[in-house]
This record gives sequence, C-alpha cells and structure tokens, in this order.
Amino acid sequence: MSSPDPSIVATVRSKGHVLLATHFNPDGDALGSLLGLADVLEGLGKRVLRYLEEPVSHLYRFLPGCGQIQTDMAKVKEFAAMAGDDLLTICLDCGEEKRLGRHHGELTACRPLIVIDHHQGNNGFGDGAWIEPHRSSTGEMIFDLAMALGAEVSARAAECLYAAINTDTGSFRYESTSSHTFAVASELVRRGVRPETVATNLYDNYTLGRLRLMQEVLATLEMHERDRIAIIRVTQKMLERTYTTMLDTEYFINFPRAVTSVRVAVFLKEIEPNHVSVSLRAKGQCDVAVIANHFGGGGHRNASGFRVKGQNLDAVRDALLPLLCREMQI
Ligand code: 5GP
Ligand code: MN
Repeated sequence: MSSPDPSIVATVRSKGHVLLATHFNPDGDALGSLLGLADVLEGLGKRVLRYLEEPVSHLYRFLPGCGQIQTDMAKVKEFAAMAGDDLLTICLDCGEEKRLGRHHGELTACRPLIVIDHHQGNNGFGDGAWIEPHRSSTGEMIFDLAMALGAEVSARAAECLYAAINTDTGSFRYESTSSHTFAVASELVRRGVRPETVATNLYDNYTLGRLRLMQEVLATLEMHERDRIAIIRVTQKMLERTYTTMLDTEYFINFPRAVTSVRVAVFLKEIEPNHVSVSLRAKGQCDVAVIANHFGGGGHRNASGFRVKGQNLDAVRDALLPLLCREMQI
C-alpha cells in the first residue's frame, strides 16, 4: 500500500531532467508536493524545472523553494528542448489535463509524462500513472516515492511535504488520515519539521482584510433541509470591499462544515459575473465527488468542486440543492 508502482520508480530513476507541474490555483498539497519532490530529485543530481501558471500566493510563500518556481512557458520549452530524450514530466495532484491550466496542451506535449495523484476519478492521462484515491495527500505519496528511490529527504523537502499532508488532511482530521499518514508525518518531523511553525504559517497568517472578508462571507449563511446543508457565498464586491482575493477564502468552508447537524457544506464563489466556482465538503456517507462529477468537476468523496458558466450564484444553488438531497437520500 505504501510503495509506488515499480515502473514509476524506474521511470523517475532513468531520467536526468524533470519538469514538475500541478493544478492551477494550487493548494498546500499541490505546492508542497511539487516543491518537496523538486528538492528530492535535485538531491539525486537531477535538473528540475518547477512550473506554475501563476506566481505562488502569499499564503504559501513560506514554503522552501518557492523562489525557484518558473511561470514562463518559454522557459519550459527551452528546458524540454535542452533535455531531449532525457526529459520526464511529472504532473502532481491533478486529476485531468485541463486542471493544469491554460498551457495544459503545451505541458502535456512534454513527454514522457507521468501522473502522481490521489483524486477519485482521475482520468488517467499520461504515459504512466500512480493514483491512489484512498491516500490522504499527494505529499504522503511523494515521501514514499523518495524512499523507493533511496533518496534523502532534506529538512526543506520535509517541511514542504508536511505542509502538503497537513493541508489535505485538514490538520490530520479527515477520513483519509491513516496510520501511514502519521508514520510519514513522524519521519518528516524526525527530519527537522516543526509542526507548530508549519501550522502557524498555514492557518494563523490572516490579514485584517481576510478576517473582514470572513465576517461578510459567514453573514451569507443559508441553512437547508433541517440544517443538514449549509451554504455560504462570496462575491467580487466583497473581495473589492476588503482588499482581498479569492485565495483569501481558503478554509472558510470549514466553518459551516463544523456545525454538528451539517452533512454537506457548500461554498459558492463568484469568479466573475455569471461564472461560479463551487466547493463541496461532506461529512459521513455522502459522496460529493459524484455531485462535482455531475457538473463536470471532480475531487474526493469528502471534498470536491466544480465550475459553472452562464449562471449566477442563486441559479447554481437552485440546481445543486435537489441533486444534493438525492445523494444524501433526504
Ligand atoms: P476546493 O474546494 O478546495 O477548491 O477543492 C476541493 C477538491 O475538489 C480538490 O481536490 C480539487 O482538486 C477538487 N476541485 C475543486 N474544483 C474543481 C474543478 O473545478 N474541477 C475538478 N476536476 N476538480 C475540482
Ligand atoms: Mn491533494
């Protein structure tokens, strides 16, 4: 259960130039896995290009290695041309090509390409894939890959991987948190991670604007179906008023989710007029990946998301509610 497919290990071992990519709007698992793996591979003497569509959000700038991230597609092409047959592309924490962002076509043209991920319903793109939906995080898998490669995990890489695991387990709380997750976390702490420092960087780093935004977002709370479904929303106006961006809404959905009676929490986000991004969080038996898939999105059993164009927040809510009730059998 904790070892990667031997063919993935052999492929990684065989190449000296590695292009690393992950999904757009990367969260702590996406970034931590990418930066952690980059450090591990460089420790093995490989040349690594860390690619992201956008510069790293201020929320994650504490992660070691952020400064080496490349956002210029021309540099990716240069790197690929220089590497020739010695190139390997690894896509991390990403369930489908399109989630790689607007340059997904150019990125997936850099072959061979392997995918390392834990999303339910990963569409298996790539020439090889190591996908384990029961895993807590891609970060946990990267640690196992490093061990299978016989690589060192430096204190810097350990911090990245620990942040990855901490993010995707909701601080070791979600169902996917296993004894192996704790075993990996323990190994990372042994390599120098300070859990308190990472937790402070991840969760106690609010600007005042972010707190004001939270006030506004929580004030939109709607309860449905005898308090079993909670819905909050954020609009562009709220972001403007509080001098914040959509990235500052990270984690807000956990507040409605924390209400005892709530089985599914929904967060409706207005990306632009009539373009809505939806986050879903479930407790217990309801599988919100099924709902997200219905709307062309994806994710995990307990945490998923999707986007809808051409409808406003109310219309998306009205379309979503009956489907949720059916999935929750209420
Ligand atoms: P979040 O709600 O934190 O944005 O995302 C929760 C989970 O759902 C993550 O695993 C994320 O990758 C997935 N997810 C969120 N939005 C989308 C989407 O629009 N498409 C797909 N395929 N997955 C999504
Ligand atoms: Mn993840």
